Amino acid sequence: MTGDPRRTVPRTDAVLAEPPVAAAVARLGRELVKTAVQAVQQRVRAGELAPDGVVPAVLAQLPGTASSLSPVLNATGVLVHTNLGRAPWSAAAVEAVVAASGTTDVELDLGTGRRGPRGEGALGALLEAVPAAEAALVVNNCAAALALVATALGGELVIARGELVEIGDGFRIPDLLESTGARLHEVGTTNRASVADYTAALGPDTGAVLKVHPSNFVVRGFTRSVEVAELAPALAGTGVPLVADVGSGLLRPHLLLPDEPDLQTTLAAGADLVMCSGDKLLGGPQAGIVLGRADLVQRLRRHPLYRALRVDKTTLAALEATLRGPVPPVRHMLDAGPAQLHARATAVAAALRAGGVEAVAVEATARVGGGGAPEFELPSAAVALDVRFAEPLRTASPPVVGYVEGGRTLLDVRSLQPAQDEELTRVVLEVARRWT
Ligand SMILES: *Cc1c(COP(=O)(O)O)cnc(C)c1O
Repeated sequence: MTGDPRRTVPRTDAVLAEPPVAAAVARLGRELVKTAVQAVQQRVRAGELAPDGVVPAVLAQLPGTASSLSPVLNATGVLVHTNLGRAPWSAAAVEAVVAASGTTDVELDLGTGRRGPRGEGALGALLEAVPAAEAALVVNNCAAALALVATALGGELVIARGELVEIGDGFRIPDLLESTGARLHEVGTTNRASVADYTAALGPDTGAVLKVHPSNFVVRGFTRSVEVAELAPALAGTGVPLVADVGSGLLRPHLLLPDEPDLQTTLAAGADLVMCSGDKLLGGPQAGIVLGRADLVQRLRRHPLYRALRVDKTTLAALEATLRGPVPPVRHMLDAGPAQLHARATAVAAALRAGGVEAVAVEATARVGGGGAPEFELPSAAVALDVRFAEPLRTASPPVVGYVEGGRTLLDVRSLQPAQDEELTRVVLEVARRWT
């Protein structure tokens, strides 16, 4: 290049008018594209880029969507990773959301032209999946469900000391419950509680007895907690509802996770209300699902706070499609056999070696995560790479998040969908190419 590069920097308007850039403006909006154009112009001014390279450089710099959230390959071996958006949705859920994202009949009966019950399809799918429930309600997340229960049933909530849990990121269930104005009547000790502890705590102000599944830790040794099946008969006739937060979102028992409570069994054991998250093992969108006695669900639905916690049309669409559609990815990840996982890791490692990258398939240990089955280890398989891969993989496109163990970077395939293996291979090869 000769002369002052500033004179040869293409003008912003001219770059924005180039057909591929104009198409990007139509898709992403003018501001996002302009920001990319300005960054590229800066590179021309600095003499790092020739003026005729501006348009391709702008296109390369543009984000994939108008949102800054980008897809990430989850190779952490944690199936439901809260920092990575928990459950990946099924293709059916994604399609349902796209269809519902415009104007949709979420609260209109098209037959009569009158207002209809909101989210009837999703609620119906929940009741079919959990036949022990008389009625269902969906709110923003399980924390919202707890807040609604505490507010609407309120007064005094009887809860075991061993169930006053912190879930993550400083979020403590007792703080949430008390923030609604409800009072906690703690029973038992950290490690033990009995049916008699609960019944002795009942009084005229008792709004509910609450059971919270300690989903991210286990207490071992001299312990005793009271199961719903023991507590329900003791509460029968008292008029005090028994509410259970099962957290993980299992609809029914799962053979691999015998210690995880599920909605159907907990209701059948005598709970009046159960609640869980939609984006853990259920494998769907962020949601708080409440199921159980019709009169109690109705009380929650009629409470003014419900209006502030209810979910939007896309959540209802994704939830219904998760329940009615094909098995969601989280369940495939959970149920994948070790041999199948080893074959996938072996294939990825072989493809990497063929591309000149040192890689081997190794045994690994995956986890459910997201507050579920805290001690349960899932035998898995990973691709082991040089430890120096961890950081550049995290900033690659798309980012790959694995973990470092024993001086190597491990990429666990259980938390990835099989269709992502090829992309994983491509990204690792690209990162390696940048080094050579
Ligand atoms: C995860 C979890 C919650 C919080 O659920 P969100 O849907 O994230 O609000 C509450 N209770 C239990 C037992 C949990 O495991």
